[in-house]
Amino acid sequence: MNLIFLGAPGAGKGTQAEFVREKTGIPAISTGNMLREAVRNKTSAGLAAKEYMDRGDLVPDEVVVGILKDRIGEDDAGNGFILDGFPRNVRQAEILEEMGVDIDLVIEIHVPDEKICARMSGRRVCEKCGSSYHTEYKPAKIEGKCDLCGGDAVQRDDDKPETVLSRLKTYHEKTAPLKDFYAGKGKLKTVEGQELVDDTKRLTFEAIGC
Ligand code: ADP
Ligand code: ZN
Repeated sequence: MNLIFLGAPGAGKGTQAEFVREKTGIPAISTGNMLREAVRNKTSAGLAAKEYMDRGDLVPDEVVVGILKDRIGEDDAGNGFILDGFPRNVRQAEILEEMGVDIDLVIEIHVPDEKICARMSGRRVCEKCGSSYHTEYKPAKIEGKCDLCGGDAVQRDDDKPETVLSRLKTYHEKTAPLKDFYAGKGKLKTVEGQELVDDTKRLTFEAIGC
């Protein structure tokens, strides 16, 4: 099964993608996490991506597609994968088709813009393994520390209010048109993001039937 998670920054698509991975064993592939790792490791892709990410823009398609192709070529992705944060514009969706990737279902996690900014301020991510937390909705067992690896869970540079607004704008301009793209193929299901992450989880599992 190949799934796509779509949603505004901070809507919780990454968290839901992780829940589905835990339940089904299908690997979740987050282009955002892979890009942040590339930036940390100062790879050529990371160096090319950094300025765009800092501005809240999309990283150029060829940079992200290169990273994605390498990842879905790995063994564990042979029986399907969950894409979290890819595609991010219509061109990337077309590239997926050109690669021969068949998408079964696209889940949009929908949260109204008014609620996005408040959610983002509480977001934390593990510097070491990329696991995500939220001070309110998904607190780490020990504040500031990752449950899984003990690394530091910190605020992302691009979760500052200025960058959040520009990422939201990018989402509406470039990514939201994907809703029509996939709805036209009968593949879109929308899940309303709830106050409690477990309620959203239940709705997500229902939508996928897992
Ligand atoms: P969020 O969904 O919270 O904005 P992500 O972790 O998915 O966060 O992405 C962080 C940043 O990485 C984005 O703002 C963008 O700059 C870059 N990025 C991630 N995925 C893609 C993609 N498919 N195409 C272009 N840029 C991407
Ligand atoms: Zn960790």
